[in-house]
Amino acid sequence: MDSEISAKAYKLREILSEHSYKYHVLDNPDISDADYDRLYKELKDLELNHPEIIVPESPTQRIGEKKSRDFESIQHNPPMMSLGNTFNKEDLDLWVERTKRTLNSDFGITCELKIDGLAISLRYENGIFIEGSTRGNGFEGENVTDNLRTIHTIPLKLFGNPPETLEVRGEVYISKKAFNELNIQREYDGLPTYANPRNTAAGSVRQLDPLITAKRPLKIFIYGLGSTIPTRRFDSHWETLEWLRNLGFPINEHSRYYSQTSQINDYYFNWLDMHNKLDYETDGIVIKVDNEDHKNILGHTGREPRWAIAYKWPSEFTSTKLLSIEISVGRTGRITPYAILDPVSLGGVTITHASLHNYDYIFDRDIRSGDIVKVERAGDVIPQIIEPIYNDEHQNLSTFSMPFNCPGCNHPIIRDPSEASHYCINTLCPSQKFERINHFLSKNAMDIQGIGQKWVKIFLENDVIFDAADLYFLQIENLIDLDRMGEKLATKMIENIQSSKNKSLNNLLVGLGIRHVGSEIAETLCNHFKNLDSILEAQIDDLMVVPGIGSKVAISLIHFFQDENNQKLLKKLKECGINTTCFNQNLEMSKNISMFTGKIFCVTGTLESMTRTEISNFLKTNGAIVTSSVSKKTNYIIIGKNPSKSKVDSAEKHNTQKISEIEFFAFSNQQKDI
Ligand SMILES: [Zn+2]
Repeated sequence: MDSEISAKAYKLREILSEHSYKYHVLDNPDISDADYDRLYKELKDLELNHPEIIVPESPTQRIGEKKSRDFESIQHNPPMMSLGNTFNKEDLDLWVERTKRTLNSDFGITCELKIDGLAISLRYENGIFIEGSTRGNGFEGENVTDNLRTIHTIPLKLFGNPPETLEVRGEVYISKKAFNELNIQREYDGLPTYANPRNTAAGSVRQLDPLITAKRPLKIFIYGLGSTIPTRRFDSHWETLEWLRNLGFPINEHSRYYSQTSQINDYYFNWLDMHNKLDYETDGIVIKVDNEDHKNILGHTGREPRWAIAYKWPSEFTSTKLLSIEISVGRTGRITPYAILDPVSLGGVTITHASLHNYDYIFDRDIRSGDIVKVERAGDVIPQIIEPIYNDEHQNLSTFSMPFNCPGCNHPIIRDPSEASHYCINTLCPSQKFERINHFLSKNAMDIQGIGQKWVKIFLENDVIFDAADLYFLQIENLIDLDRMGEKLATKMIENIQSSKNKSLNNLLVGLGIRHVGSEIAETLCNHFKNLDSILEAQIDDLMVVPGIGSKVAISLIHFFQDENNQKLLKKLKECGINTTCFNQNLEMSKNISMFTGKIFCVTGTLESMTRTEISNFLKTNGAIVTSSVSKKTNYIIIGKNPSKSKVDSAEKHNTQKISEIEFFAFSNQQKDI
């Protein structure tokens, strides 16, 4: 029976892996999403009922829930070298000539696009993905295995006959579209935006919570071999790439082999022209000597191989006149300066505004209104002012100073000494209020359709509402007399407002517009605390034990909830019957298993019948929360062989109920029978 189930699961995994490869890597699916989902669900159900058959390479195991405090380090063998690079033809020609001299002849090359992402290394044992790490300093990187597992183009199990051990090198990246969407959302959430897709990929891979990484649409290209055991010899790099492709790795389709170095130019200029049309950011091309014997002869200098060079695109910048520096007030009161530019064309787009980030950015570069400024646009990012041209005219212009008073409410503007930003700290500031209500209505918050900024402005001007909570008390008669409002529109608006009451707690947390609390942090808080009251009661220590919550967020939450106006707002929101609990699907599914639901478990030591991952999955599937340390909130500690002394001591201290493995299973079986 058991072997039959295992065989069925194995078969399903093979089918799913193949379809996943066709979908994610080849971009050429041959079954519908619905069919894929059906097969996936079949496997998932099978594994749920038989947790003992779960294997790490199962497509269901891409997203783990283990959060880390930091990343352990991993040695690279061989080291991950960096590339020498050049921006000009002369340097490239010098490299070609030098290489020809060493090899006594012209040589074949592989030309590849240089993907602007994060370099990583992946290790496979017997074809199963075991470990992945960042480049780090080239000799030692960070273990980001759990995060890399969430990237669908990384095979968890290889096709064909992979060697016992295989290490490959590649670049994790994010598409331009996904990058822009993420930044728009972050800006809206009051979080710092990423400067470019590379930072985004790096920031996403280095998340401590794999669930967050899983939400970022990351992809990967593999561009080379690290090592194999037993050693596998290839004649050329091109052959290596083909071999890797056949194992199921995504290899960039635009890589080309050329038999002569004179062909480098064609490849470079073709892509210099075309690279903006790609959906991912590139910063040039990489030229690699193709023949493995040639590569051995050339060797490397320090950390750079002599057999490869990056030839980069020239950066896109221009100059124009900075007409004026304006400031805007965000919903958290943050004052953001921005530049109004004399319209100028850059990379085919007319630019009229540029970000100036904060006062220090302007001060450090001595940017003055009236300056001729250098403007750069990296990818599709908001244009940045690099620096002004420091000529005589510049000296005669007056320097920028932050206005003393908020343009929205005239209250004094104050600089937060812990960060570079200035704030209007008047919580009654109409500019902030306007932004806060818009934020409350937005998609990641309460997602209330049909009430745009225009209506928010009208509501505020006509004293129809004073804060977001007032929306829930609106009646048709409050709206009907407003200009251009009919009964039909008013009814629809009120319907939309009322139905938003049933959103999950994380939407409400986003909607409150707490500094540093965007959708990711809100979800973390929601999953951990389950309801708003627990968050309100939480002390700073309770907040900081939550993985992913640092002191900045914790302090911000405490401040927010201490504020009298915010307390009034929350009171009103509760009065109108808004939902303040977390909707967690896992919990919903397992409502009937009362012993585990919402209980906090910690496991220590080795168990006889299950691995730690298996028991964690078992508990989580049944609605429990599994933590890696014991706190006063822990309900049970399951003690296996050779338990950690500190965890047991901690359990003693907090009076946590201790149970053995046998007791645990006896208890859980008994629960199932009820
Ligand atoms: Zn103000």
